[in-house]
Amino acid sequence: MTTFPNIPLGHTIPAHQAFGWCSYCPNRTPAEELAAWQTRETDETIRKPTRDQLLEAVDRVRALHHDWDADPGHCAHCQDGMGTPLPWPCPTIRALEG
Ligand SMILES: [Zn+2]
Ligand SMILES: [Zn+2]
Repeated sequence: MTTFPNIPLGHTIPAHQAFGWCSYCPNRTPAEELAAWQTRETDETIRKPTRDQLLEAVDRVRALHHDWDADPGHCAHCQDGMGTPLPWPCPTIRALEG
């Protein structure tokens, strides 16, 4: 069994791990703990990728999809169901360009 030496017996362990306090701590209320959890959840759900992260994702897609040296005029990544490379620019790149 894991013990949490810094967390007083009877206190809410997840709250102590997340915030360092819980509703059983002195000067804390259950409403305060609930509000803290709600704020935390909101922070996590509204965290959006930054512009740089999105641009990096686009770069990774572009690294996969490029005009293929071995077969110019065709995508190095995309093929039809028969294994024939798709004409360049492929649908993925056209989708990125908008
Ligand atoms: Zn506590
Ligand atoms: Zn492609």
